[in-house]
Amino acid sequence: MEDLLKHKGLRKKLVDRMKEKGIIDENVLGAIGKVPRHLFYFDSTFADKAYDDIAFQIGDGQTISHPYTVALQSQLLDVKKGDKILEIGTGSGYQTAVLMELGAKVFSVERQKNLYDKTKQLLPGMGYDAKLFYGDGYKGLPHYAPFDKIIVTCGAPEIPSSLLGQLKLSGVLVIPLGNKEQIMTTLVKTGENEYHKEEFGEFRFVPMLQDKAKGL
Ligand code: SAH
Repeated sequence: MEDLLKHKGLRKKLVDRMKEKGIIDENVLGAIGKVPRHLFYFDSTFADKAYDDIAFQIGDGQTISHPYTVALQSQLLDVKKGDKILEIGTGSGYQTAVLMELGAKVFSVERQKNLYDKTKQLLPGMGYDAKLFYGDGYKGLPHYAPFDKIIVTCGAPEIPSSLLGQLKLSGVLVIPLGNKEQIMTTLVKTGENEYHKEEFGEFRFVPMLQDKAKGL
């Protein structure tokens, strides 16, 4: 599949919709305008839906997040060029690509082997050189810590303490918190064990699952 003029047109409309919905970070809007979202639909039959503001099944019972959710989480992360970012829940890799367009170095963890394999194929081919890991996001990536920012793209019943431990001072964690529904939450690390918390409305994510599989 290619990135055609029609896709660029659809992206421009999507960017306008993101503005209407309250996204103001020009860099985020620029990234949404650049990343060819239709190429992240593993099943090309549905690629024309890629620029509607909807979540979508990408196989293995998982979804690619709404563009608005991706835009908002990216805006809340306040990405600076060169930021080292940990992402939990690689999924399709779309959010990963948006963060890379923002100039971040992205380390992303996925617990579903199928998705990990597909996305590991896909992203480099599109020029996105992210560091992808198959593993359990609850553990984070202690060997690569600390991170400037951490983004969780699945619904977490509670804040995983290991992730907080891997955040730099002044770093930001963006995490949807809750079981059936989640409250988008940010925590800024203001001291060794001090955080400033803010909430940004209700969302629905697939759950962040605990891993019982061996080796994860
Ligand atoms: N950022 C993705 C959203 C994918 S949906 C995108 O833009 O497409 C959330 C993903 O989190 C799913 O792929 C799911 O398998 C993954 N996930 C759930 N629990 C996890 C865990 N404990 N560790 C890592 N990934 C997890």
